[in-house]
Amino acid sequence: MNGTHEVTNQPPPLEGYDAWSRDPWLREAARRAGARGIDERARDLGRFVGSPEAQEHARLANAHVPQLRTHDRRGHRIDAVEYHPSYHVLMARSIGAGVHSFAWKGAPGGFAARAALFYLWNQLEQGTACPVTMTFASIPVFAHAPGLDAAWRPKVLADAYDPRALPMGAKAGVTIGMAMTEKQGGSDLRSVATEARPDGEAWRLTGHKWFCSAPMSDGFFTLARGPDGVSCFFVPRSLPDGTRNAFEIQRLKDKVGNRSNASAEVEYRHTWAEAVGPPGRGIATLIEMAHHTRFDIVVGVAGMMRAALDQALHHARHRSAFGAPLVDQPLMRNVLADLALDTEAALLVAFRLAAAFDASARSEDERDLQRILTPVAKYWLCKRMTPLATEAMECLGGSGYVEESPLARLYREAPLNGIWEGSANVICLDALRAIERAPRALEALASEIDAAGEARATALLDAARRLLGDGVHAPHHARRIVECLALAAQAALMRRHADPRAAEAFAASRIDAAGGGRAFGTLGSPADAAALVRRASFEEP
Ligand SMILES: Cc1cc2nc3c(=O)[nH]c(=O)nc-3n(C[C@H](O)[C@H](O)[C@H](O)COP(=O)(O)OP(=O)(O)OC[C@H]3O[C@@H](n4cnc5c(N)ncnc54)[C@H](O)[C@@H]3O)c2cc1C
Repeated sequence: MNGTHEVTNQPPPLEGYDAWSRDPWLREAARRAGARGIDERARDLGRFVGSPEAQEHARLANAHVPQLRTHDRRGHRIDAVEYHPSYHVLMARSIGAGVHSFAWKGAPGGFAARAALFYLWNQLEQGTACPVTMTFASIPVFAHAPGLDAAWRPKVLADAYDPRALPMGAKAGVTIGMAMTEKQGGSDLRSVATEARPDGEAWRLTGHKWFCSAPMSDGFFTLARGPDGVSCFFVPRSLPDGTRNAFEIQRLKDKVGNRSNASAEVEYRHTWAEAVGPPGRGIATLIEMAHHTRFDIVVGVAGMMRAALDQALHHARHRSAFGAPLVDQPLMRNVLADLALDTEAALLVAFRLAAAFDASARSEDERDLQRILTPVAKYWLCKRMTPLATEAMECLGGSGYVEESPLARLYREAPLNGIWEGSANVICLDALRAIERAPRALEALASEIDAAGEARATALLDAARRLLGDGVHAPHHARRIVECLALAAQAALMRRHADPRAAEAFAASRIDAAGGGRAFGTLGSPADAAALVRRASFEEP
């Protein structure tokens, strides 16, 4: 009894599970993509992700948002961000598990293995996923500066979270951020106005950055305009002599989501920096970092979809209305089955991409494939995430729309991945450029699609080719072209690797004009919907 009434028909919290061991879709996708020997690491992380303790840390880190302290009590600038202790617990756990580093440790299938870890992490908390991703993606940029690489890479790969504001040499491990966006333009980085002046072997930067996430990172790849044009630089937070580099945090953004993570406005005042890569080629140098963060967005969003679907399935299993559990009601089953199709197709495309990253060094086809599939999948999964989170929230009724529900966080997080690391239009235009510059990239994707023998996927590919052929109007069609490619790739992957009913339902509802509606919950076959929900719940058919 609870005072005036008994509490009934309220689902228990979804906790105390192992997000790795219970998920055959993920384990199979990771294995197929080449991940080996990660069972123990993934199980440890999977248990943590599903534990009540981790979920409470995720809640606390987001409820108590980071605070900026510009000065100490004696008036010295300190530019420090204070996080809730739960943020540090999560960072330590994630970095300790190598979620940022495993791809670079030389294990075969390293990208696929790390993708599995990142997929799991994104079921728990996304604010910490931001510095983890940037640190992961820093490695290819360090490679452009051998001196920096030799000094910093071992500290990135140390798998030790050390939040102390100390010079790199004194730290057990480091995290890395990126500061490119300025007020006048984030997509068009040619407009960068921060000025770089030579100072002996090093450089001094003066200017501002409008968005700089994880500002307590140990170093930042950044862009500034030098004598040869926009160039890439590395700004360490502390100087080798132990003093602070000039890195003034003006304020923290009050963001819609991603609230455990700080995103700052930053000012450089004669800030010490080292040059990275060829002068005047800063955007090209940093694009490699962006390419890797875009890959991570694909994997991360796939993980977020799984988390949203799990909440909806769990609630529907434990909540009854009109005399029966929601999960047994035909229309709710139609909604859940439809959500499950997107979740599975997202997982498949994420791990196909991970396999392509792993194989890129030895196969030109795979390199071409990851070049085109990264923006294509980034665009499409981000576009699907927000409606999927909204629909999953609705499955919980009013309980989904309160801050205590994990869905509230997922819902506020959902649009962000579509905005940073290339907003939708920019990503689609980038995909078009990739095709223009290397027509082989489209062919690599086409052979992947054709090989599946799914006629509807091939028809979509043809539709994309027709629009690409529309000369000067191709940019007008860029979203449609990329959507066609994404859906064709997903339908082909579903045909090859998913249960035949799921593959059929995906192609029928996402491609056939009359096969499905525009909202979730409009699949055609009642029998298939029931089976799809059982599959997505990892129940025996
Ligand atoms: C929470 C958060 C954290 C961030 N963290 C960082 C960070 O750590 N470091 C960093 O450097 N940046 C960061 N960013 C910035 C982010 O990368 C930019 O906001 C993003 O790149 C878009 O740039 P913009 O905001 O200047 O928008 P704009 O470039 O002005 O774009 C506005 C709109 O115009 C569209 N558009 C642009 N060009 C074209 C075109 N040619 N044709 C059609 N449409 C076009 C875009 O797609 C977008 O929809 C962060 C942003 C957010 C929201």
